[in-house]
Amino acid sequence: MNKLTRRDFTSKITKGTGAAMVAASLPMGIYAACTPDKKLGIALVGLGSYSTYQLAPALQDTKNCYLAGIVTGTPSKAISWAKKYSLAEHCIYNYENFDTIKDNKDIDIVYVVLPNAMHADFCIRAAKAGKHVICEKPMAMNVAECEQIISACKKANVKLGMGYRLHSEPYTQQVQEFVKKKTYGDVTFVSAEAAYRSTGNPDQWRLNRELSGGGALVNMGVYAIQSAIYGTGENPISVAAQEFSTRPEYFKDTDETITAQLNFPSGAIANITTSHNFSANSMYVAGTNGWFKLQPANNYGPLSGSTSDGKILDFPHESQQKLQMDDFASHILHGSTNLAPGEMGKRDMIIVSAIYESIAKGGKTIRLDIPKDYGFA
Ligand code: NAD
Repeated sequence: MNKLTRRDFTSKITKGTGAAMVAASLPMGIYAACTPDKKLGIALVGLGSYSTYQLAPALQDTKNCYLAGIVTGTPSKAISWAKKYSLAEHCIYNYENFDTIKDNKDIDIVYVVLPNAMHADFCIRAAKAGKHVICEKPMAMNVAECEQIISACKKANVKLGMGYRLHSEPYTQQVQEFVKKKTYGDVTFVSAEAAYRSTGNPDQWRLNRELSGGGALVNMGVYAIQSAIYGTGENPISVAAQEFSTRPEYFKDTDETITAQLNFPSGAIANITTSHNFSANSMYVAGTNGWFKLQPANNYGPLSGSTSDGKILDFPHESQQKLQMDDFASHILHGSTNLAPGEMGKRDMIIVSAIYESIAKGGKTIRLDIPKDYGFA
């Protein structure tokens, strides 16, 4: 017998085999692939809310990849996920034995969905294990870590993609096309907002700088930076920023609200806002011949959009995560474009760092030296 059925595995784990033991107890390769042909196996690292409610469900519908494995520090999650998704024992890892994933032929892609401070470590370990890597946003804690991830993937000759789901999303792709084709003329201005109100546990990792690397800016602000860039079709040449704090007792360690103004080589300007204190979710692009906007612009969809000439954008809704993971798998399988390469994650971290630098220097304009096409797909 070379397949482990759901019933076999459920019976093993309900007989009291702990998850760490489950992961460690069997030599690799004892079971054949738990997998259909021509689909790449993805292992999710970190089974928090994004993996649980978005990625794993999306992986039930993907065409080019499927949920093959998990990496978790919580034995009870290993058991419940294995049962729910019929995962094979040899595809279940904890953070300690994760590096042995190099011997697992059923895992092609490692998707790192951990708190930001853990991204670099696990992306680099995944690359060293010879696995393709998807890294959640923000890419890492700083630019140096982004560079380390990129170079580890290059050295291991594996592909690296960011978890920037919007690049696979039809409204966002339409916006990118408007910009490229100058449908509304030359872009002169972008306004982008990405924010939500945080009221949860003040001890959560997102509010702890050591684990998050920052507050609203590294969390939602990355979407506003992205909107400014695909809204203009250019990388910015300078940025100035301001920080606002209205609930310092809650946001003790991380930024609450940030606004920033970016200048682009064409002369276009962008104003971006991000916050953990209020809701905002839109992008507006003005060109010399009209405008277009998305609102919402960066949630899980469906997005919604309109234009100055009366068009209402209307695309069928599909899971953004499904489209994103299929696109990345297709990049590996068929050589299609990597829509969100690692360099894009690094470029955004360069801008994040410049925004923090500007705030630290009282709003001073910081020059950016990002090559023209750097980070574009
Ligand atoms: P979460 O808090 O729900 O889950 C984090 C997971 O990491 C949990 O399973 C937790 O057990 C595990 N973990 C391991 N070590 C930990 C530690 N020291 N402290 C806290 N948790 C630890 O977070 P999430 O919302 O799933 O976010 C995970 C990553 O995914 C983040 O980088 C986040 O920015 C990103 N994310 C991206 C999107 C998107 O739309 N692309 C959406 C949500 C989250």
